[in-house]
Amino acid sequence: NVTLEKEDNEMYTLIQEEKFRQYSCLELIASENFTSQAVMEANGSALTNKYSEGLPGARYYGGNEFIDQVENICRDRALKAFNLDKNQWGVNVQPYSALLGSTANFSALTALLAPHDRIMGLDLPSGGHLTHGYATAKKKKTGFIDYDKLEASAELYRPKLIICGASAYPRDWDYSRLRKIADKNAAYLMADIAHISGLVAKGEANNPFEFCDVVTTTTHKTLRGPRAGLIFFKRAPKGERNSDLEEKINFAVFPSNQGGPHNNTIAGIAVALKQVASDDFKLYAKQVKSNAKRLGEALVERGYKLVTDGTDNHLVLWDLRPIKLTGSKMEKICDYLSITLNKNAVHGDVSALQPGGVRIGSPALTSRSMKEKDFVQVAEFLHQAAQLALRVQSTSGKMLKDFTAALEKDEEVKNLRKEVE
Ligand code: PLP
Repeated sequence: NVTLEKEDNEMYTLIQEEKFRQYSCLELIASENFTSQAVMEANGSALTNKYSEGLPGARYYGGNEFIDQVENICRDRALKAFNLDKNQWGVNVQPYSALLGSTANFSALTALLAPHDRIMGLDLPSGGHLTHGYATAKKKKTGFIDYDKLEASAELYRPKLIICGASAYPRDWDYSRLRKIADKNAAYLMADIAHISGLVAKGEANNPFEFCDVVTTTTHKTLRGPRAGLIFFKRAPKGERNSDLEEKINFAVFPSNQGGPHNNTIAGIAVALKQVASDDFKLYAKQVKSNAKRLGEALVERGYKLVTDGTDNHLVLWDLRPIKLTGSKMEKICDYLSITLNKNAVHGDVSALQPGGVRIGSPALTSRSMKEKDFVQVAEFLHQAAQLALRVQSTSGKMLKDFTAALEKDEEVKNLRKEVE
């Protein structure tokens, strides 16, 4: 019963420091959020001690009577959170998520594809996730998805699977059009709603479940749970299309890609999903969108360019190329200012390694009760940061290391940091 503080003070101190960093900075990474105390408790519980390979009622180890209940509750809540009928949809709640880009995605691909089958999705510079494969269907000028081009590419390459969903796309998806394109090519349609799942659950984003065969999500972004993944699959009567999805996906998760489930995480997901089902979460999802929209407007009012000129969801992609600042420099100065965001490729960038913009998300600060007026203040800080970066760059030169060295010494940077904190 020795506490962490006494047992391992070095680790305890680092955890406290990280916690302080998270709460003293402006957290704007679009894929991050703050879980509730209740989720943390479940995640840090005795469930971490237990092995339970297999599924509820069919485990490879004894002693799983409570773990079975935990997993069953989690599955029920996952379906309920997205308003899904048990007879039409099933869900696997075991993916660990972080391995191989995302075990949820990798397992879905393992289930749906045979060697040499083609997949089609957004590539990284266009806002897709690393696990989505390589093809682009974004308009170079506007940054919107070009569905006509996507349709033509699908006919040319005949993918077995079309993946929609992204890590950095500020607009919603036309799932109905994508379904038609998938059907024309006898392809599966899978939506990775990792970023927007909290919005989808509350009807604040288009509903992929009406059109897709498989839907994957992480649980730690707008869903506000612990780090993990979920795979939803369509059910169908024996002999019909998709009737084999349940078996294929369960087998792809375990034993193909994972071992024993992380039961503490599954309990944490269940707690988060209970919160998602509440009316309060509807208010949260609405506020996330409204805050991102106001942030975007405030940047445009200050003369800046956003990809697609705005947002329908929880993030804005700020195109810094017009002011001749790189995403890397903007990220760097923000780090110095206690503003956490990430550099991001924008449509038309040649490489994701030299990104022309930054991605800014509203979910985490919305969890800290911030409203539209607070996001106008955030936009003002970002404006000051960009102007400071341009001033520093004009004397330090373009190299990132010289720029960083100059930032360290800059008095204005120090003063602005104090104001942000
Ligand atoms: N899918 C999308 C669209 C994502 O943006 C991410 C991560 O940011 C993932 C999947 C994978 O999540 P993880 O890194 O937890 O595996």
